[in-house]
Amino acid sequence: MKVAVYPGSFDPITNGHLDIIERASKIADKLIVLVAHNISKNGMFTSTEKARLIKESVKNFSNVEIDCFEGLLVEYVKENNINFIVRGLRAISDFEMELQMAILNRKLYSGAETLFLMTSTEHSYLSSSMVKELFQMNGSVSQFVPECVEIAMKNKLCGGETNE
Ligand code: ADP
Repeated sequence: MKVAVYPGSFDPITNGHLDIIERASKIADKLIVLVAHNISKNGMFTSTEKARLIKESVKNFSNVEIDCFEGLLVEYVKENNINFIVRGLRAISDFEMELQMAILNRKLYSGAETLFLMTSTEHSYLSSSMVKELFQMNGSVSQFVPECVEIAMKNKLCGGETNE
């Protein structure tokens, strides 16, 4: 059985992430979407909130699971016998960082391959940061994120919880 992990900040999950999840779930027997703690990014949502939003968004994919992790990705990969690390590529600007990470991960642990999936054209400009900026300027994010995310963002603005 081929097990893949798709790690990311997912703050919040967008339709671009969902597209990668859908396509990767057709390649792997099991796909784990991993909410990874990113020390260099200040988040809008907590890991638990992000995981709940992903869970709600992927409920129609039978071989997709969600997990959260704070440590080094390769440790998670080793512990869970992962075969592939899935990452999405949008622009050339993504490539440099992704290449460095893939090479570093392979140096640390050569038992898993990084698999890059190219963004779909309609999502090539889409990022969590763009969605957050648009939202903060009162723009509608409905065409960029799953409905549950839009609701959770509005709840955040009101200072409330995200329906947990
Ligand atoms: P990270 O902080 O780990 O980059 P992100 O949540 O920003 O986490 O992204 C996770 C992965 O998803 C990254 O590989 C990123 O390049 C990819 N990704 C994000 N948005 C898109 C998109 N619109 N199309 C394709 N891949 C994407």
